[in-house]
Amino acid sequence: MRECSAAEKRNVQQMVCGTRTIKMMDYRHRIEESKKRLPLPKLMKLQGDADAAFKIAPCPFHDDENPSFSVWRSGRGQWFWKCHAGCGQGDEIDYLAMKLGMEKGEAIKEFLQLAGLWWINKTEV
Ligand SMILES: [Zn+2]
Repeated sequence: MRECSAAEKRNVQQMVCGTRTIKMMDYRHRIEESKKRLPLPKLMKLQGDADAAFKIAPCPFHDDENPSFSVWRSGRGQWFWKCHAGCGQGDEIDYLAMKLGMEKGEAIKEFLQLAGLWWINKTEV
């Protein structure tokens, strides 16, 4: 994923302040902002998987006798998870898709809703 430009970062700042500007934030930035508001461990806690939000933990997606699930944060500050037994891996959205049995597009919508960044009354524009 590319870095945000200075102008885009300013937009992200603004959109948190007012509904009017929130409208202008594009999809990608809404997802980035949602990841800041609801990082993977917090999201997992919300979904009842607090016990799995560790570097080594039992996988929440399969019957796991030897802990094969990992949650970690990359050098760039993004959170990831992986089941070493093969359930899957990814970010917050992949986790939600897996957890709730959703397509990726639905999971993105769900994630933005949980983070409070899925729209927003049209009359407010
Ligand atoms: Zn697994």
